[in-house]
Amino acid sequence: MSIRRKLIAGNWKMNGTMADSADLAGALADRWMKGPRPDCDLLVCPPFPLIVPVVAALAGTEVAVGAQDCHAKPAGAHTGDVAAPLLSDLGCRAVIVGHSERRADHGETDAIVKAKAEAALSAGLIAIVCVGETLEQREAGRTLEVNRSQLRGSLPVGATAANIVIAYEPVWAIGTGRVATPAQAQEVHAVLRTELALLLGEELAAATRILYGGSMKPDNAAELLSLADVDGGLIGGASLKAADFWAIAAAC
Ligand code: PEP
Repeated sequence: MSIRRKLIAGNWKMNGTMADSADLAGALADRWMKGPRPDCDLLVCPPFPLIVPVVAALAGTEVAVGAQDCHAKPAGAHTGDVAAPLLSDLGCRAVIVGHSERRADHGETDAIVKAKAEAALSAGLIAIVCVGETLEQREAGRTLEVNRSQLRGSLPVGATAANIVIAYEPVWAIGTGRVATPAQAQEVHAVLRTELALLLGEELAAATRILYGGSMKPDNAAELLSLADVDGGLIGGASLKAADFWAIAAAC
């Protein structure tokens, strides 16, 4: 049995209203209360303004709440950004950093992602550090090199198995319905774990969770989650339906 407890994390992205999030979080709380409860850790990451009501709706459950991004600085003149200590104060347990949509839409480099991850750790949050190749990079045979390099560049100083989670998200699989094959996912996860061992030691690498993200759904989750180095999922589209999110978690 793996020493790594699986984590199913929902990334709600820029979706939902107050009413939608109350329905979704309420449905998750209901499932938690009624059971059966999945044998994994659960996390949902709503848009910033919905964090407070979602934390309230999930109070009394072990479904944790996280954010989708944070700034690298703890406070200051950064209009529109949100600081990690505030996320922690609001009840967040984790924050996603370096999602490919932020790398693409906001020009986030590995150095920026690393700084954000360090801010998360300083605020007592778990940093979910995302890496992943584009289709062009995969077709050019650069998948392993790109993922190794993003991991090296994005890992925060002070990382431990308890305060970081890595998410391998092939960009070509995100929101496309095109999922990595088990062989493709396992190959990259194993390489990321080897790279973690080189950077931070065998013990930390063996205990650190590496999630797969990219069109994970109830019908493909069990196969992906059974792979030796896949320790859970970062779920986009399917996390917006309580039944689908719960079904994926139940596959752990
Ligand atoms: C994501 O954006 O993190 C993601 C994995 O999205 P989807 O599940 O919709 O592909």
